[in-house]
Amino acid sequence: ITSKLPQTGTNIFTTMSALATEVGAINLSQGFPDYTCSPELVSLVNKAMKDGHNQYAPMAGVMGLREQISIKLEKLYGAQYHPDTEITITAGGTQGVFTAISAAIQPNDEVIVFEPAYDCYAPAIKLMGGIVKSLELAPPDYRIPWDMVRRLITNKTRMIILNSPHNPTATVLQQSDIDELTAIVKDQDILILSDEVYEHIIFDGQTHHSMARYEELRKRSFIVASFGKLFHTTGWKLGYCVAPALLMQEFRKLHQFLVFSVNTPMQYAVAEYLKDENVYLGLADFFQQKRDYFRSALAQTRFELLPCSGAYFQSVRYSNISDEKDTEIAPRITREFGVASIPTSAFYSRGTDHQVLRFCFAKQQETLDKAVNKLMKI
Ligand code: PMP
Ligand code: GLN
Repeated sequence: ITSKLPQTGTNIFTTMSALATEVGAINLSQGFPDYTCSPELVSLVNKAMKDGHNQYAPMAGVMGLREQISIKLEKLYGAQYHPDTEITITAGGTQGVFTAISAAIQPNDEVIVFEPAYDCYAPAIKLMGGIVKSLELAPPDYRIPWDMVRRLITNKTRMIILNSPHNPTATVLQQSDIDELTAIVKDQDILILSDEVYEHIIFDGQTHHSMARYEELRKRSFIVASFGKLFHTTGWKLGYCVAPALLMQEFRKLHQFLVFSVNTPMQYAVAEYLKDENVYLGLADFFQQKRDYFRSALAQTRFELLPCSGAYFQSVRYSNISDEKDTEIAPRITREFGVASIPTSAFYSRGTDHQVLRFCFAKQQETLDKAVNKLMKI
């Protein structure tokens, strides 16, 4: 067959995790926790199965779960999303992203993507015949230059993709970004895809500027979330997308043929578990402790720490250690020193290399200690 994604190989997470396993390295590359999720949540899944919730869920998801999501969005962001028409449960954030892009993008539509960018946006745009208009951001701050965004906009611009807290840079949108974005999209026919899978992992008391908070942005946004990040259950592949009814109607037309619906017992379990708001409100403190611990340990190495305001990734610059490319040094450190990371040039479509590596700190303290002991030898 003729490849629809000729430039695309196996993604960097698969590659680095496989290398870590092959050489027995500590895996701080692919982002996932190395500790178990709440036993209570597991018993709720067991209960749902025992109670017989083992057949197809409704296409848009179990109603009790959609209701809990609606309550959460109202409580946290003052936003009203109707469970019937504006919330759909997805197979993780990935399917939410793919479905939203597929529903919205027509051939030759332009989509603005800030790079470094999580890897699942561009392929979906290209498969739909859309054009990726990337705008590169640079360390240490990775701030969005809004004047350049303005210059990128044409009458074909159909969507802007945002991700805050951000993977891989750990930056978060500020109020000034929201103001600039609002001014740009206000009178334009531009949609927003807001990847908010790390919404609850935000540090130093900062505010998560969800698109749901701002009516001008909310009314044109698909917002994607993931229970994998929220409950330390990346393997469950459960998430959701919210959008105003007209957008969600188009989203569901695709969703019903991509997956029809997603697994039922976990939806029942999460619906029950979400009733206690502490399960998401406590997440920022939980990860801030890990961030602080990991940063102070890494400060003893020769790596230069970049800022970390959210999500569970710490980036470091190594230019004072080596002039290798990040795609060379990441596998070398994995093999020679036993710690796997992600080379962040993988998140730039042109492979731009700022000599930055990303480490995931969603790990037990013991794992972080072992990793830093090894990194000290570099
Ligand atoms: N967006 C971002 C920024 C992510 O980091 C991830 C998970 N790595 C996803 C989307 C996908 O989420 P899920 O694992 O729930 O599909
Ligand atoms: N989101 C995770 C990360 O950024 C990995 C997801 C995946 O493996 N596709 O590391």
